[in-house]
Amino acid sequence: MSKKNLLGYSQAELEKFFLEINEPSFRAKQLLKWVHQKGELDFDKMSNFNKKLISKMKEVATLVTPKVEKVLQSEDGTKKYLINLSSGSSIEMVRIPENKRITLCISSQAGCALQCTFCATGAQGFEKNLSPDEIVGQLWLANFYDRKDPPITNVVFMGMGEPLLNFEPVISSASIMRNEFAYFLSKKRITISTSGLIPQINKLASRTDVSLAVSLHAPDNALRDIIVPINRIYPIDSLLNACKNYLSIQKDGRFLTIEYILINEINDSLEHAKSLSKILAELTCKINLIPFNPFEGCEYARSKDENIELFKSYLLKKGFTVTVRSTRGGDIDGACGQLVGNLKKTTQVKKITSRKFVA
Ligand code: SAH
Ligand code: SF4
Repeated sequence: MSKKNLLGYSQAELEKFFLEINEPSFRAKQLLKWVHQKGELDFDKMSNFNKKLISKMKEVATLVTPKVEKVLQSEDGTKKYLINLSSGSSIEMVRIPENKRITLCISSQAGCALQCTFCATGAQGFEKNLSPDEIVGQLWLANFYDRKDPPITNVVFMGMGEPLLNFEPVISSASIMRNEFAYFLSKKRITISTSGLIPQINKLASRTDVSLAVSLHAPDNALRDIIVPINRIYPIDSLLNACKNYLSIQKDGRFLTIEYILINEINDSLEHAKSLSKILAELTCKINLIPFNPFEGCEYARSKDENIELFKSYLLKKGFTVTVRSTRGGDIDGACGQLVGNLKKTTQVKKITSRKFVA
C-alpha cells in the first residue's frame, strides 16, 4: 500500500488521519505548523512528537514535495521554477516580488484542455490534474526551497491549467493556504483565475471565500468564441451574471478582477474598449489589462504601447479601476506555459497557426 502524502492534507483530513492511528486530533495543528510554517518535512525532527508516534507515522505516511528541476532568476527579481511531478509531467510557477508584496503564480493542471488561442499552456494540450500536495507543494517550495527568499504574501492560480476544472484539489489546497496553522493567507490574498466555467463559479461561493478573477479577453461573443473557445458553451452575459452572483454571496464589498489580454489588432481597438465598458457597467470589478506575451508558433503580437494607453485611458475615463500588468521576467520566458513549452519544443513542436483568429 502506498504511503499517504500528508503535504496536501487539510486540517480536517489530518484530524481524521490522527484519530485513525489513535492519536488526539490536536496533532493536526502541530503537524500543519511543522510542515507549512517551519518548512520541516522530516518526522524525526518534529520535537513535540514522541518516538512511538513518529514510527507509527513513518509506517503509513510521508511528506514529499514535487521536484524543482530548474530555477531561472530574472534581472527584475522574478524567479521562475520548472517543477517535475512524479507522473513525469512538468509544470511551472513564478515568484514575482513587488515591494513588500511577493506573489506566487501557481499551476493547477499540467497543460490545459481549453485551447485559448493566445495561451502557450493551451497549445500543449491537457496532461493531468494536480493533486492537493502538488498544488500546496508549490507554495511550500516557494517559501522553503531557498530559505533566503522572503515568504510569499499572495497566491494567484494563474499558472498552467484551468483551476475550476480541478475543483476539489484547488479548494482543498486553498483551505490549507488560508489555515491559521499553515500559511494563514487572507481571502483577499488568494485569487482563483478562471476562463469562465459557470457551474463551477456557481458552486464556488459555498466552498471558499477566496478572490475571483475572470479571463474575459473579448467584449462580444463572436470574438470570445474564437479566442476563449469555452465561451461557446458559457457565453458572456450568463458568465457576468454568475460573477455578480458570486460577489453578492460574499457580501463583503469585494471586487472581481476582469483579465483582458491585449492582442494587436484582435481585441485592442477603441471600439473594443467601448463595448467592454458597456458590458461591465453593472459589475463591481477592476480591470487588469495584460499585454500579450508572444511565444513561438503563435502568430499574435503584443498590442502597440499607444493602443494599450488609449484602451486604458478610455476605461479610466469611464470610471473603472484599471491596471496594466507590467511584463515581468521577460528575459526568462515569464508568461504562463512558456518555459515548459520551450523545453518540450525539442520533442514536440506544435504549430497553432490553424487556431489563429482571422479578423
Ligand atoms: N485557466 C485560467 C488560469 C490560468 S491562465 C484562466 O484562463 O484564467 C491565466 C492567465 O494567463 C490568463 O488570463 C491570461 O491573462 C494569461 N496568459 C495566458 N497566455 C498569455 C500570453 N501569451 N501572454 C500574456 N498573458 C497570458
Ligand atoms: Fe487554459 Fe487559461 Fe490557457 Fe485558456 S488561458 S488555455 S483556460 S490555461
